Order: sequence, then structure tokens, then C-alpha cells
Amino acid sequence: MAIREIGDNALFSRTRSAPRTHPARNAWRRVPRARCVARLFLDVFNVIDRVTLADRIEDLLPQTQCTKCGYDGCRPYAEAVARGEANYNQCPPGGAQGIARLAALLGKPVIALNPGNGEERARPLAVIDETLCIGCTLCMQACPVDAIVGAPKLMHTVVAELCTGCDLCVPPCPVDCIAMVPVTGQRTGWDAWSQTQADAARMRHDLRTARLARERQASEARAAARRAEAAASAAACAAQPTEQDEAAKKRAIIQAAMERARQKKEALAAQGIAPKNVENVTADVQAQIDAAEARRQRLAPPREDRDDEPNGPATPSEP
Ligand code: SF4
Ligand code: SF4
Ligand code: SF4
Repeated sequence: MAIREIGDNALFSRTRSAPRTHPARNAWRRVPRARCVARLFLDVFNVIDRVTLADRIEDLLPQTQCTKCGYDGCRPYAEAVARGEANYNQCPPGGAQGIARLAALLGKPVIALNPGNGEERARPLAVIDETLCIGCTLCMQACPVDAIVGAPKLMHTVVAELCTGCDLCVPPCPVDCIAMVPVTGQRTGWDAWSQTQADAARMRHDLRTARLARERQASEARAAARRAEAAASAAACAAQPTEQDEAAKKRAIIQAAMERARQKKEALAAQGIAPKNVENVTADVQAQIDAAEARRQRLAPPREDRDDEPNGPATPSEP
């Protein structure tokens, strides 16, 4: 009875004093609300901060990837401007409006297009004279947005909707069959080019860059595999015994056998046991002995290989 009372009381007191939930579950209630808000602001600030100045400059460029700015595309030019290494008036496809956009972003005055990078013009379209095209594919390789279709030794053609008018396909053509034809009349720069077109050109350029990287990787992997195969083959050839090795091995075996025979003969001679009836052999037996001797001479290693026998090899006929 006493024990039960103690047990009941203990249960009662534990039930009254125990927290309803684990302390950790209410921990967030103790964090000051101000700290949560500050953390939220920090996260938002970090996201904004990751969009670099180069990203914002690139967003304002026409994405024709024409390289007229002196850089290998819009992204490298944007990075150069962000670093302060390039001026913001070097993009002819963007023209005056493009410079004004960049000036507003950078907080700088609007200046004229640098004539050294080209002039603002109506947007052209590449047109291939298909009667002259020899299908060399050089224009396809030069096009930064994969706007040309064709196959080796077959006629090539430009997909007009994809062409950015960058001019890059013209110089490589060996038969000069690509013409740049203006298609926007009096409209130039951003008046002749939309943000939608710029976004599409950027995406196609990014896809092409990724494809080229994949192809380069695959090509390098194939080359590495070929090198590894050649190295393995060379190692296998080196591991195989050559004919010279085989001949040397055979000579060593013969020499060892002859040495054993010589030692055995010496041991027998020391015991007074020598070959008998060696004078009166028949002609047939002598012929067999001569043939064996000739064979032995033929198979015997060259004399220079027998340094341990200064007087020449021991022969069965030696006493
Ligand atoms: S559109 Fe041409 S000139 Fe303008 S930034 Fe891009 S690559 Fe350079
Ligand atoms: S077709 Fe020629 S001009 Fe058109 S985007 Fe391709 S390389 Fe540039
Ligand atoms: S570079 Fe000229 S010839 Fe060669 S595939 Fe292109 S258009 Fe044809």
C-alpha cells in the first residue's frame, strides 16, 4: 500500500512538472523575431549579390555573338566591361540605344559608338547562293548560333529566323557564296532587334557552347583511350620473348646438358670406368657417332658463349 502511494504520488508529481513537448520543439519561440527578419533580408541580399555586374551588363547586350566588340562573344565583352577593361561603346549591333542602356546601368554618360568596332546598320541576314555552295561546312563551324544547316559535300542553307546577322560565316567561305542582305530597312540597333530574339540567340549560343564542350571532351576521351591502347599494346609486345631470347635460352640449355655430360664422364674416368671397345667400332656405328657429333657441333653455342671452357667444349670422345 505504502509503495503504491509513493508510486502514484511520483507519477502525479512527474505528470504535473514535465513539459508537454520536447524543449527543442519550442526553441524557435525564444529566437527574437528581429533576428528572423534580419536573416531573411540577408538571404535576399545574397541572392541579389550573386547576380554580378557582368550578368547585368550581359543582359543588356544584343547576343548576336558577332565579336565586333573585340571579344569572343557577348559574355566575354560583358565581363571585360565589368572589370573596367573595355569601354561600353564597343557594340555595333546594340548601337546608340545599347550604349544608352549600358550607360544608365553603369551611371556613366552616353557616348558615341567607337567607329573602330564598326557602325550601326540595318540588321542583315546571311543568304547562301546554293548554286555555288560546295558543301565544305566551314560556314556551319563559324556560325555562333547554329543557324546554318547542311552536311559535308551537300548544299548549305541559312535558317533565316535563327540568323543574327553576325557576318561570321562570310570570311571562311572558300567560294564566296554568302551574301549579307539587309532586312530591316531604316531600322538599326535595338530598333531592328528584339529582346525575344536576343534571348533566343543567347540560348542557342549557350547550347552550342555546351555541345562543343561535350564533343571536345568526347574527342579527348577517345584520344586518351587510343593512347592507352597503344601503350598497352607496346607493353605486351615488350613482354613477349623475341627470337634472340629464344635462341639464347636454347643455347643455355644445351650448354648445361653438355656440362653435365662432361662432369659425369670425368667422374666415371676417375673411377676407372671408361668407354670400352672404342677402337673397333663398325662403319655403321662410326657413321652414327659422326652424325651425332655433327649434330652436336651444329647445336653447340658459339665459342664466345663458352667462357667457362677455355679449351673448347668437352666432347664425348675426350678421355
Ligand atoms: S553583339 Fe557583338 S559586338 Fe555586341 S557584345 Fe555581343 S559580340 Fe560584342
Ligand atoms: S548564318 Fe552567318 S550571319 Fe547568320 S548567325 Fe550564322 S554566322 Fe552569323
Ligand atoms: S562555306 Fe560556303 S561553300 Fe562552304 S558550305 Fe558554307 S556556303 Fe557552302
